[in-house]
Amino acid sequence: SGSAHLPLLNGLNEEQLAAVTLPAGHALILAGAGSGKTRVLTTRIAWLLQTGRATPGGILAVTFTNKAAKEMLTRLSAMLPINVRGMWIGTFHGLCNRMLRAHHKSANLPQTFQILDTQDQLSAVKRLCKQFNVDEESLPPKQLQYFISGCKEEGLRPADVQARDMAERKKVELYQLYEEQCQREGVVDFGELMLRSYELLRDNAPIRQHYQHRFRHILVDEFQDTNRLQYLWLKQLAGDMVGGSFQSSSSVIAVGDDDQSIYAFRGARVGNMQDFVREFDVRQQIKLEQNYRSYSNILDSANALISHNSHRLGKNLRTDQGPGEPVRVSESVTDLAEAQWMVDEIKSLVKSDDVARSEIAVLYRSNAQSRILETSLFNAGVPYRVYGGLRFFERAEIKHALAYLRLLENPHDDTSFMRVVNFPPRGIGARTMEQLQEGAQAAGCSLYDAVTAVAGKAGTKLQAFVALIDVLREETQGKTLRQTIEQMLQASGLIEHYQTEKEGADRIDNLGELVTAAESFVTQEGFGKDAVAIPLDEQEAMGVPGAGQSPVSQGLNPDAPVLDTPLPNASPSALPDVGNAQMINPDTGETLSPLVAFLTHAALEAGDNQAQAGQDAVQLMTVHASKGLEFDAVFIAGLEEGLFPHENAMSDMGGLEEERRLMYVAITRARKRLYLSTSQTRMLHGTTRYNVRSRFLDELPEEALKWLTPRHSGFGSGMGSLAFSSGAGGARGAGAGSWNAESSMSMWGKTPVPAQKAEPAHGIKVGIQVFHNKFGEGKVLAVEGTGDDARAQVHFPRHGTKWLALSVAKLTVV
Ligand code: ATP
Ligand code: MG
Repeated sequence: SGSAHLPLLNGLNEEQLAAVTLPAGHALILAGAGSGKTRVLTTRIAWLLQTGRATPGGILAVTFTNKAAKEMLTRLSAMLPINVRGMWIGTFHGLCNRMLRAHHKSANLPQTFQILDTQDQLSAVKRLCKQFNVDEESLPPKQLQYFISGCKEEGLRPADVQARDMAERKKVELYQLYEEQCQREGVVDFGELMLRSYELLRDNAPIRQHYQHRFRHILVDEFQDTNRLQYLWLKQLAGDMVGGSFQSSSSVIAVGDDDQSIYAFRGARVGNMQDFVREFDVRQQIKLEQNYRSYSNILDSANALISHNSHRLGKNLRTDQGPGEPVRVSESVTDLAEAQWMVDEIKSLVKSDDVARSEIAVLYRSNAQSRILETSLFNAGVPYRVYGGLRFFERAEIKHALAYLRLLENPHDDTSFMRVVNFPPRGIGARTMEQLQEGAQAAGCSLYDAVTAVAGKAGTKLQAFVALIDVLREETQGKTLRQTIEQMLQASGLIEHYQTEKEGADRIDNLGELVTAAESFVTQEGFGKDAVAIPLDEQEAMGVPGAGQSPVSQGLNPDAPVLDTPLPNASPSALPDVGNAQMINPDTGETLSPLVAFLTHAALEAGDNQAQAGQDAVQLMTVHASKGLEFDAVFIAGLEEGLFPHENAMSDMGGLEEERRLMYVAITRARKRLYLSTSQTRMLHGTTRYNVRSRFLDELPEEALKWLTPRHSGFGSGMGSLAFSSGAGGARGAGAGSWNAESSMSMWGKTPVPAQKAEPAHGIKVGIQVFHNKFGEGKVLAVEGTGDDARAQVHFPRHGTKWLALSVAKLTVV
């Protein structure tokens, strides 16, 4: 067709063009980092729209973060003169929320249901455990939360879980009680958004068929990190099982990179790719092998590293860009020195190389590493921004404020009730609360409703709190969101409370930010794309008579414009069509309260980066949070055994491979410059750890690197595997490859010395038996460093494998 000459297709390479203009049907695009997967997805949507193959309402695209969704929408509106606001582009959670709001009745939820983020969920679980006298020692609430989330990710309700023992039966029982509690309170957690939406599609044929018919084009980015339930959800949208085989008339395009699968610990299944190909009978598979992001020194490093993984689907990446700068590697003596070095490099990048600060990212494996980096940047006066630490909507004062707002909408939200009933302090003690909870439990009602049953002084105080909420609700009727929040901040006593607090000024500023956030939410976002809710009777909207009939499936002719077919027996205006003004029901004029829309926005955005456009600040984030992003210059901090790869992941091979994929993701974020850093000592969780540099450094090609500090004989190839396979004993708990040295720091306080070939003076050699006065006899697996820096890796039969500093450990040769 002539469509190949559309301007939006300019600049695509052959494979990309093929992927963008694929004929309808299912397809898998499997390609490495920076090969243009996300770009292909966005361009395909634009192409489908521009050539009339789809209407905005006929497209559903899943992105990994809200930020990615926004970016996609921005790019689309730049490419096409269309209003993209109503398009179904978002995260799994965002899209499920949207669906549940539109069909809340069928999903058995109140229209104003509130979303619990991870923190809220934990408080809800804690409350439950307390109510049912669960012993926190034998079942920590966090563990129960993990269990519940895990079940939901697998699509399992309590009745579906096969308990293997008493302990698990108890968990299942609590899972059931937790569900009842959430249902009673009208709240859903993140897992529930997904599961409820999946069940809605599975169990309600008219709704399922409506969406199946509507979304002719389903596109999924970062498919390698979808979990079981997300895959099943997509399957419901795409088609039905007919006589044992899966039939689908839509076109599902999944885009992913098995080497970037980094969420297995949260239930992601790379296996979804194979399942997809098999179950959807995918005929079209496209590989993209040209990398457009990075210079070849960076790309070669990434390729060499990931080649150490065994279970790969196999693909290559090349670049036409030159080698660029070498990858710089630095070894510091302390974590503070590491941070200092980074700050110096960052300053020179900004000053001499004219790199924008916002184009510089510092990535780390663990959140705990950010503090020292922040301190150093702060002291040096370098603006920075931390992603994924304590995000705005997760801060205590914001949570308190949101809890008051939630109670205005839904007084039966017990989590919010508990959070603020005595905050600011109102003299409502723990005993009163116990009494109230017992009363609520006995009556099977919410805390709010149980207040009247509490007698005496305690009861009076509780009633005063309830009255405060009720009066505030009354008074804010008909007010704008901004006025509502401002009034709440005063009436609740929050502002007054923080004014008396020593460090309350920051918190008051943040509460001011909340007003700003609400304001811009209302004006710019038009209530936010995720907050869509059209109160309508779905049965009617679905056109009950005949709604169960399957719409006539239309084959898509790639050369003919295809428009969405309207749902049978339903007037178009009654459809929950988000292509229209979203907050208003076209039939009744009803709208969802901006407050509910804002609260939803707050819950869904909580887990996301909050980039401030235009701010020229260095970007600090975990490697996990950096997925899909790119920067001119990238620093990777803390390349040490036990930290990256992380000790928790070292107990099995799968864990190590996931760590390596994480490192692959980190490296491939860099466009022009990459800096790698390791530190000999690091203060973590209050103790100084003596580190061995990460095996990942030794897996990179020598030619691409430039060592800024003398290179130690390091965690050599042979040693790496030795230490790994011997990690079975105490190595995991003790932190494999690291050693807690509470002793004096002075021994590390000098420049590292390169390894000498000469015979070490201490007489400790690989293979000999040594004696340690705490661990007993053990075998030396490795030795490195000289003088005070000398260290040995020793395997002790009863204590596992440890790295020991020879100047401190006082080993004797047996
Ligand atoms: P990741 O796996 O990290 O998510 P990706 O495969 O999604 O990466 P993109 O982010 O889509 O890759 O693209 C990487 C970079 O390369 C982007 O800056 C993109 O604009 C650019 N790019 C992609 N294709 C081309 C092309 N044909 N010509 C020029 N630049 C391109
Ligand atoms: Mg991408």
